[in-house]
Amino acid sequence: MTPARGSESGSPALINGGDTATATAARTVQNYVGGRWVASDATRFGEVRNPANDELLARVPLGTAADVDRAVKAALEAFPAWRQTPPVHRVKPLFKLKNLLEEHLDDVARVVTREHGKTLDESRSSVRRAIDNVDLAFGIHDRMMGTSLEDIAAGIDCHTVRQPIGVFAAITPFNFPAMVPMWFLPHAVACGNTFVVKPSERVPLSQVRIFELMHEAGFPAGVVNLVNGAKEAVDGILDHPGIAGVSFVGSSPVARYIYRRAAEHGKRVQALGGAKNFVVVMPDADLDRAAAISTESCFGCAGERCLANSVVLAVGEAHGKIKDKLVSEAKKLKVGDGMEPGVTMGPLITKQHKEKVLGYIEQGIREGAKLLLDGRGYQDPQHPEGYYLGPTIFDEVKPEMVIGREEIFGPVLCVMKARDFDEAVQIVRQHELGNATSIFTSSGKWAREYRYRVEPSMLGVNIGVAAPMAYFPFGGAKGSFFGDLKGHGRDSIDFFTDKKVVISRWF
Ligand code: NAD
Repeated sequence: MTPARGSESGSPALINGGDTATATAARTVQNYVGGRWVASDATRFGEVRNPANDELLARVPLGTAADVDRAVKAALEAFPAWRQTPPVHRVKPLFKLKNLLEEHLDDVARVVTREHGKTLDESRSSVRRAIDNVDLAFGIHDRMMGTSLEDIAAGIDCHTVRQPIGVFAAITPFNFPAMVPMWFLPHAVACGNTFVVKPSERVPLSQVRIFELMHEAGFPAGVVNLVNGAKEAVDGILDHPGIAGVSFVGSSPVARYIYRRAAEHGKRVQALGGAKNFVVVMPDADLDRAAAISTESCFGCAGERCLANSVVLAVGEAHGKIKDKLVSEAKKLKVGDGMEPGVTMGPLITKQHKEKVLGYIEQGIREGAKLLLDGRGYQDPQHPEGYYLGPTIFDEVKPEMVIGREEIFGPVLCVMKARDFDEAVQIVRQHELGNATSIFTSSGKWAREYRYRVEPSMLGVNIGVAAPMAYFPFGGAKGSFFGDLKGHGRDSIDFFTDKKVVISRWF
């Protein structure tokens, strides 16, 4: 194992170096393995840039199967002692982590904003959600209890115990760099497993900061590990015989691949995929509120949110009435560097992603959708190099259009019209993805009917972002989810433990 090296930042998590002119200025991200910061074996590196101004923040190693193997070995070594540590003691480092995250909430949020671009308020809320998961894990001694029944036959009793399984790994997306790994790690380690996180190579710095705090919190060496990289590191995880289960969050094509390949190796898998979320607006809804909430839902985090309601499906006369309201709400957004006060929408994650979203806007125009608001021309006067787009709204989008079907993952709102409630339900049901959806109505009957008939499994009633709290399950349906046990909530205990059934007779 390469020993940790110091750096100008004072943190061994980032070291100086690089062999090209640009790379020299940027620090290289390290892995955290067996309780120490170590260099990756990688010979290829990616760049981490601040999307607000294109500044090069760091180089990230595109890690190898050997990097993964080192982390898994450390996790396997730590497992027997960690498993034997009583649950009430296992949560002690989590208590410390919670306090450290509270104390450094603003600092972690700043790292999120710098590498991702979302506003500081959005980053703070995401760190708060990470802390909620740490909080929930404190109750593990209660949540992990088994069940028992006397006399399943004369003189024979039966009980179940929940046992940790071994090493688990999380492979996570770019859009919530601090929060998403925490949907899994606290629950897995509280259950007595050990863990490897592979964050998105586009935003590795938030996890680096959180792992510095985990180091301070005093987890025994090898219980939590961090490996940076992209596809090669992911494949190293999927194929590694030492890993018992994988939690994935990202786009649907990759989720499907992860599910298939990890399952082939006999692993447990929960793979949360992409989204195209519809918000049905009934004519009886409070349209001012529906417009304001839907706009926030769609354009928050610059539309890079798996719970973004990116299609407003207006029913009957709601369509004519809500269009202008959506446009005037969207015009209130202040685009800019998420670090600056008053900014309500930051840039997109990369230059390439901005180009992709621009491509969708051009596609929408070609397909005959009507552009009500055009964000293509937006340029930030202070940071012309930033990856900004203004809010864009299309009307007269049809379900069969590319912009009506595919996940755009940018600040583009599509407005569709449905004749009546039944047609709206049909449009939602026809879509291959089913992550989240919302309905705006003043009728309990419509709300119930909607809940009953559509498939997306995170559903908001007069709510724009139907984000389950840590103690409820998180995950979609259809092409948005591969597996059966969802993220956090009670499902996490089922995912991270095995149930052993003991049948006893004493003579
Ligand atoms: P992504 O699928 O490109 O990447 C996710 C992870 O997979 C990253 O760690 C990446 O390194 C890895 N990866 C990427 N391509 C791979 C490949 N070909 N083989 C193996 N591994 C690969 O997703 P992203 O762009 O980082 O994130 C955005 C997507 O995530 C959107 O589709 C969004 O809807 C989805 N998302 C879903 C949820 C949810 O709860 N369902 C939450 C957040 C984001």
